[in-house]
Amino acid sequence: MLTKSSTELVRQRNSVLVLAALRRHGLLAHTELSDFTGLSSATISAITADLEKARVIEKSEQQAASGRGRPRVQFRQRRDCGYLIVVIISSDGVQYSLVDYAGKLIDRFSEERSHDPAGAARFVTAIREGLERILSRSRIGRENVMLISISSKGLVNPDAAVLTWSPIFGSERIDFEAMLRPDWQTRIILDNETLLVAAALGAREEAAHPDGLRSLTALSLGHSIGLGIVRRTAPGEREISAPNFGHMLHVPNGGLCRCGSRGCIEAYAGFYAILRMAFEVPDDTIPAKFVPLGELDKIAARARQGHRMSAFAFRQAGIALGNGLSRLLSLTERMPVVITGQGTRYYDLLQQGIAEGLAQSHMVRMEGMPELRVELDEQLLVFEGHLNRALSVIDADIVRAGLT
Ligand SMILES: [Zn+2]
Repeated sequence: MLTKSSTELVRQRNSVLVLAALRRHGLLAHTELSDFTGLSSATISAITADLEKARVIEKSEQQAASGRGRPRVQFRQRRDCGYLIVVIISSDGVQYSLVDYAGKLIDRFSEERSHDPAGAARFVTAIREGLERILSRSRIGRENVMLISISSKGLVNPDAAVLTWSPIFGSERIDFEAMLRPDWQTRIILDNETLLVAAALGAREEAAHPDGLRSLTALSLGHSIGLGIVRRTAPGEREISAPNFGHMLHVPNGGLCRCGSRGCIEAYAGFYAILRMAFEVPDDTIPAKFVPLGELDKIAARARQGHRMSAFAFRQAGIALGNGLSRLLSLTERMPVVITGQGTRYYDLLQQGIAEGLAQSHMVRMEGMPELRVELDEQLLVFEGHLNRALSVIDADIVRAGLT
């Protein structure tokens, strides 16, 4: 016999299933909810009644096209149940978005990030001000914000909102939770940016092939090199991770990397590394903090016109990426690699090196090349990843809080 508390747990789990189905498929009727979740009609009735009473979901009635008969009743998330703020930190700016509980974008603005070395404290002050600004622009009460979801490149402590290393601030750690807590009582989560890209690609894949999610890798090219992996662990279950790929060793005692080590993949494939190689600057030169995209565009234009050293710099970058991927895939499994980020604009110059770097490994000689695919809109993927993760955390929080 089920004890009272385990009955409650089952109920919570079922409520989360219903909310997740509505997230994935949009408006759903009673029978569709039952089909998608595998729950009985009676269970669906009880759960939707509770969620409706708690003002978490709402009914939408649509008259049949014939105009006769009973209207079709569907459920959806209530937009004003609460709000989410998404903060995307990139190498040259910070983007703030306000989103409602149904996943609709309400407001968005970006602020440039200054490149002065004033450090983390000043940066956090700017973030606090940005959050205040989005609140006052939309006139939404602070207490109605259910979650703040932040992303950055670099290393993130998955159990707390702490950035432990980033290309911008190095090892000056930023504890977002502690720094925002005086102003905010809401939940704060922090994720690696390419992990979110992988999460979004995984969700798209799952929507396209409901029975068989394949594992995949997202590789982000730019000032730094990011990587995220979605792996199918059991039917219907997946695990998302962001290993420290950019700082995996490529050449022992090789070029100086922004992280302070020598020979990292990024020290060959990051924008600063391509610049360094193209201008034949010694590879122990301290990496440029930030390389304007226009500079890389110029090198790419010269490479396309046949300038030997410029073309060589991109090829070396490609080989470093290809070698790194071959090691990664040898340790995990053969899976498609989806390439995103600003560096995709140079994919024509990188492609040959990537293929060459992959082909050097036994795994690729035995099993063939993995599928390589380019996705141009990384910004959209990052945002989708935020919504996927943040809204499911909010759903679980709402259900756990007891729907009252
Ligand atoms: Zn490094």
